[in-house]
Amino acid sequence: MSTSTAPATGPTTATGPSFGLTAAQQEWRARAREFAQQRVAPVAADLYRRGEYPVELVRAMGAEGFFGLGVPEADGGSGGGLLELCLVVEEIGRVDQSLGITLESAAGLGAAPLHRAGTAEQKQRWLGPLLRGEKVAGFGLTEPGGGSDNLGLRTRARLDGGEWVIDGRKAFIGNAGSAITSHVTVTAVTGTRPDGRPEVSTVIVPAGTPGFEPQPRNDLVGWRTIDNRDLVFRGCRVPVANTLGARGAGLRTFLGALDAGRVAIAALAVGMLQGCLDACTARARERQAFGRPIGANQGVAFPIADMAVAAQLARDATWRAAWLADTGRPYGREACTAKLYATEAAARTARAAVQVFGGEGFTNDSLVGRFYRDAKVLEIGEGTSEVQRVLIARHLGLPGPA
Ligand SMILES: Cc1cc2nc3c(=O)[nH]c(=O)nc-3n(C[C@H](O)[C@H](O)[C@H](O)COP(=O)(O)OP(=O)(O)OC[C@H]3O[C@@H](n4cnc5c(N)ncnc54)[C@H](O)[C@@H]3O)c2cc1C
Repeated sequence: MSTSTAPATGPTTATGPSFGLTAAQQEWRARAREFAQQRVAPVAADLYRRGEYPVELVRAMGAEGFFGLGVPEADGGSGGGLLELCLVVEEIGRVDQSLGITLESAAGLGAAPLHRAGTAEQKQRWLGPLLRGEKVAGFGLTEPGGGSDNLGLRTRARLDGGEWVIDGRKAFIGNAGSAITSHVTVTAVTGTRPDGRPEVSTVIVPAGTPGFEPQPRNDLVGWRTIDNRDLVFRGCRVPVANTLGARGAGLRTFLGALDAGRVAIAALAVGMLQGCLDACTARARERQAFGRPIGANQGVAFPIADMAVAAQLARDATWRAAWLADTGRPYGREACTAKLYATEAAARTARAAVQVFGGEGFTNDSLVGRFYRDAKVLEIGEGTSEVQRVLIARHLGLPGPA
């Protein structure tokens, strides 16, 4: 298939995209849909029940080129941009949110910061296997003491004989301890800036480094098959050459990844919205009560109409933010808008979808039942809903917290 490296913008108007997808974007979407329907949907319920990290499916997504989206072919990627990644994440998320977030976080938090900020040597060593989905990597900012306040870090890295010595803990880190994890990139305080604030740097820690201790997988309410763990660093030594980006630029490196990550999380939420809409529409036509399809009742039809509205608006907001990113325009506010709207709509919609399905919707065999469990974390990961509102208010010029 065509994997143009040119930023794919689709037809545009003076005010933004008309949301017509290019032929290459439609191909990515169709390919992801086929993969999701044929390879993922038939096994999703069983995977969820067993709660296993699906290494083979991750590798199969890698073979499809999904992990290389947003990175030019010349650099070993699959071409395309954030919009292409969003199209694929939506399709995977429509049938399996865990696999969708595994892809989103491996591409957005694992590979993208390395591609954007890595040195030639770092990319040579780590990037290729990530882009091919043979390996995954995590990005660790959150600590047991908190994730929203990213200046409250306690993890420390000090220089000793040309090596960073890292001590601290990270919480809830994705793709950081699986059988195919190559490394985790962590933020750590590396000194004090002239203005008295902490100097934060990001450091690449390869899997298996002595003193890097991934803890057992977290027992999550949803996203049951992801690799998500707390990490302990005890006198963990890595060469200073493993610094990702400039020393002291750690938060910039992470926050850069977060803007794109928010858009991709919005795409994951769009997948849930579309999945709920499809499942509920079919169910409301087929399921009979009192001698007629349940969808003949406005009490059932109206929430499904609301699902269609939410899916469309969330997708529009997501594609717009991705298009802005891919065309080099500022998109921070739009990323927050898409993430906030799509994830809150998905959480409301998953609840409504279980209601449409009745008792069967409250099982892990049911797609909408799994969505119900998966929905809440969409409003938390990569910045909570409150943090999105704080950032949008800041974009509006409103006075921030003291
Ligand atoms: C499944 C899962 C996967 C994750 N993956 C990763 C990962 O790969 N890497 C990573 O670094 N982190 C990851 N996280 C962590 C996630 O990003 C944090 O949970 C999130 O940023 C919130 O941080 P916190 O949990 O420490 O909550 P806190 O920061 O303690 O916040 C608690 C509550 O207070 C609210 N709050 C805080 N400050 C304000 C404010 N100024 N105004 C209004 N409300 C406020 C928050 O919105 C929230 O409701 C993951 C989390 C989960 C659950």
